[in-house]
Amino acid sequence: MRGARCQLNHLFALLYNLFKMRTERISGLPLEEDVVFTTLRPARLDEFIGQNEIKEKLRIYIAATQRRNEPLDHVMLHSPPGLGKTTLARIIATEMGVNVRVSSGPAIEKAGDLAAILTNLKPRDIFFIDEIHRLRRNVEEILYPAMEDYKIDIILGEGPNAQSLRIDLPPFTLIGATTRAGLISAPLRDRFEVSFRLNFYSPEELRAIIIRAGKLLGIEVTPEGAEELAKRARGTPRIANRLLRRTRDYAQVKGEGEVDLKTAKQSLQMLEIDEVGLDRLDRAVLEAIVSKFNGGPVGLETLAAALSEEKDTISDVVEPYLLKEGFIKRTPQGRVATERAYTHLGKERTRLI
Ligand code: ADP
Repeated sequence: MRGARCQLNHLFALLYNLFKMRTERISGLPLEEDVVFTTLRPARLDEFIGQNEIKEKLRIYIAATQRRNEPLDHVMLHSPPGLGKTTLARIIATEMGVNVRVSSGPAIEKAGDLAAILTNLKPRDIFFIDEIHRLRRNVEEILYPAMEDYKIDIILGEGPNAQSLRIDLPPFTLIGATTRAGLISAPLRDRFEVSFRLNFYSPEELRAIIIRAGKLLGIEVTPEGAEELAKRARGTPRIANRLLRRTRDYAQVKGEGEVDLKTAKQSLQMLEIDEVGLDRLDRAVLEAIVSKFNGGPVGLETLAAALSEEKDTISDVVEPYLLKEGFIKRTPQGRVATERAYTHLGKERTRLI
């Protein structure tokens, strides 16, 4: 009797979730950030600057699946934050002419939540999961048959009375985004047919992004002003757009309203962004490795504790750029500051003899 009631409760919970999802909008709900970035997010592949190899491959895969009237194969996008994963996922949906449903690993708490989303998709729709490395194990396991066979098995009830309910899904595309490819389990990783790693952008590409954003926001940006912001945007479009907006504020209040070399330099100084684009946290990390740990090696946990910072912020946000620019190196024993870090901080390396 208890078993039957338990099963009923599970069924009601599933039905409730399904109903709830049906009443929500299916096309990508805007993320909070979208509201701010709406006008800046490129909508088509042709407007997406840089990442040329990825765009070329996507054009081919999209055209081929359009011809066959099939869903695109599942795609994994991997990069540090702000390089365009979410933007690209939305662009893929637009180019395919389908809806995109946006969620994130930590937001999908129960298998039923995932079932509700998947059963509400239309054929060829895209389901985008940001931070896919943070999916719960029980949810991740539902994804395997969903990705492979477009089916899910929901277990109703517990113990000997448990029953499995098989639900057919529309053929869909999963796009997973992650800042930490290394944390994705092998069975999940293997189910993505296509995997792209987005690279940091060159100053020229960031300059083009800033000029484009300036036009959309109706700001006068001189070539020299754009170049200065681009050089200091840490290879990241999201930062480039942020620096542009902050410099616009500065230019409107302190200058003539135009983002030129002088206002760019002044506003970057106010933002404490140095001439190579490092911000206060980047410098604090370098300073700690050099001064507190005598150049390293130092482990991530120790470094995070010394700075009272989140481990993930250091490993996902700070380190990739410092590594790319050659300020630090990773060794099996931990992070080590390079000669460039010492020169940048104006410090002498003290050598033990
Ligand atoms: P991620 O999902 O990797 O954290 P987003 O896709 O949210 O990054 O990108 C952050 C912002 O940067 C977007 O709102 C968009 O305006 C801008 N952006 C990202 N990539 C590009 C690009 N290639 N060209 C132009 N703007 C871009």
